[in-house]
Amino acid sequence: MYNKKRSFDGAPRRNGGRTSRGKNRQSKQYIHESKFINTDVVEKHNDENAYQPTHRFADFNFAPQIQKNLEFMKFDTPSAIQDQTIPLAMAGKDVIGLANTGTGKTAAFLLPIINSLNNDRKLGSVLIMAPTRELATQIDDEFRKFSAGMKLYSVLLVGGVNIVPQLRGLQRGPHIIIGTPGRIKDHIERKSLRLGVIDHFVLDEADRMLDMGFVNDIRNIASQLPVERQTLCFSATFSDGVKAIANDFMREPEYVSVKVTETNDHIHQDVVRYTDPEHKKNLLMDLLNGETLEKTIIFGETKFGVQRLSDMIDKAGIRSVAIHGNKSQGQRNRALNDFKNSRVSVLVATDVAARGLDIPNVSHVINFDTPTTYDDYVHRIGRTGRGGKTGSALTFVPEKGARADRPEREERRERPDRNSRSEWRERRPAGAGNGNRDNRGPRPQGNQGQGAKRSGFGGSRKPRRDENSLMAAISEQN
Ligand code: ADP
Ligand code: MG
Repeated sequence: MYNKKRSFDGAPRRNGGRTSRGKNRQSKQYIHESKFINTDVVEKHNDENAYQPTHRFADFNFAPQIQKNLEFMKFDTPSAIQDQTIPLAMAGKDVIGLANTGTGKTAAFLLPIINSLNNDRKLGSVLIMAPTRELATQIDDEFRKFSAGMKLYSVLLVGGVNIVPQLRGLQRGPHIIIGTPGRIKDHIERKSLRLGVIDHFVLDEADRMLDMGFVNDIRNIASQLPVERQTLCFSATFSDGVKAIANDFMREPEYVSVKVTETNDHIHQDVVRYTDPEHKKNLLMDLLNGETLEKTIIFGETKFGVQRLSDMIDKAGIRSVAIHGNKSQGQRNRALNDFKNSRVSVLVATDVAARGLDIPNVSHVINFDTPTTYDDYVHRIGRTGRGGKTGSALTFVPEKGARADRPEREERRERPDRNSRSEWRERRPAGAGNGNRDNRGPRPQGNQGQGAKRSGFGGSRKPRRDENSLMAAISEQN
């Protein structure tokens, strides 16, 4: 367990000159190991309570080419969130859609938008914001598939890559603009992106964007948009921050929630007990050498640790790729593609890869290091068991009485690699920090306290001190 007051090495500061170094870092939550176990897997397909959609895709009156593309992609029946939000979005309403990860939110907003673009091919009229470069890229990929053959064009505005091709892309007159808040704001400031004709605005993973400290950018961008527009907001949680955005920037939004439970009942979950770091590594290698692991994501906490694990796995003759904040965007993309296309079967990653990434057929998620919060856990294991498939998640925990789960020495000096940090660098040049509190980077938010609410595990546990300060930080922000 990390100690909040732990001091760090003298590495150069990368947080835009902020003085509150580490202050906003989320301290590690106590998660009882029973929460990592679910061996009674609910088969989604046999579930009597499985959602019965009230529409088929054919009922939505999409343009024939969209229907064709859906058939080609083998989309037959809409998922719950699609079933309920698509008719509202098609009717031009503002919609707040709350649904767990992997439930098809992307199509829920893209299909009505593509259909509307097909009727009115206005250039630059759709703006979609997502928290990370990878997610924005994924939305762009899906857009191309759903709109194939329709001569609709997109531009992807994400940080960490050369801006010049993006400037050219904007000049070519795309119909739809997809990006991360930081780079979108850059383009607005450079006047390369004009917001005057935008009539569809989408916030994907809104809670995550707020968690990452993008609140000011979102507000700034949203306030410059034409008032006559449709706003669609998708989120896993309806946090106070999301409520505030909805209040301030949406018009009489329709509210759709298809969240059933926080845990992924269809994912087989278990723990792997280890006695010491050497044992832990050996167990991991045994698992990787075994027969059952096909396509595996291993999550580690720090950039250093993740790179070392990947090197170790490579040395043992199993090809792996690594994704963490020290990799360039090009390296991150290449690694992700190699893994997506199954050229390598093992991806080692920090939580950079935990949210929203849709990689087909991941058979196993291994939490080599335990996640910082239960919320992170849910997102990590949500990389498997997607699209109605079952999946498997294994979490390494120390054997009772064994030396506590402490990262090795070099790693102890390193901060957990939070996605937000690299995105932070993207959106704010060094030294540009200011005193505005909302600009200070990642803020804990959402369901931090949910562990205590669940019956069974740790319900009567008193919050520890750093959780109290976490809760204080949350209420301060909201
Ligand atoms: P979310 O954004 O809710 O995390 P995604 O939009 O990434 O989920 O969808 C998860 C996966 O499910 C994707 O691979 C997507 O192509 C697939 N999918 C979504 N909707 C359907 C559907 N109606 N039928 C079949 N597959 C679907
Ligand atoms: Mg999504």
